Amino acid sequence: MALREKDIEYFRQLLEAEHAKIDKQVAGLRKKIKKSLDEDRVFERNSGDPDSDFITESSEIEKDEMLVRQLESSLQQIDDALDAIGEGYYGICQKCGASIDRARLKTIPWAKFCYKCQVEVEEVEKGAA
Ligand SMILES: [Zn+2]
Repeated sequence: MALREKDIEYFRQLLEAEHAKIDKQVAGLRKKIKKSLDEDRVFERNSGDPDSDFITESSEIEKDEMLVRQLESSLQQIDDALDAIGEGYYGICQKCGASIDRARLKTIPWAKFCYKCQVEVEEVEKGAA
């Protein structure tokens, strides 16, 4: 069953709220990374040999950077879903054209594929990796 306008509005708000939340997380992490990098530079100037603190700090930055990349790919998916709403194909599987289950959209509002196609896509990705 295709989504009603009311449903689409509901998912649009859900997506926008999620987008704002992730945006904030990314901005916070970016600030944290920048601050850590600045502190590292200060540390390097003050001391020649990096001690364990320095190493911990570096892997911390790497973890944060990885998280930023993950969050940015989520943002991309949310943007795509918001585009789909604007274009009028939201909630339609981009592989087989079937309506995506509402329950599925409630769990994953940025879902591009129906469950069946998602499984297929993931299997292809797994095979390619
Ligand atoms: Zn499908």
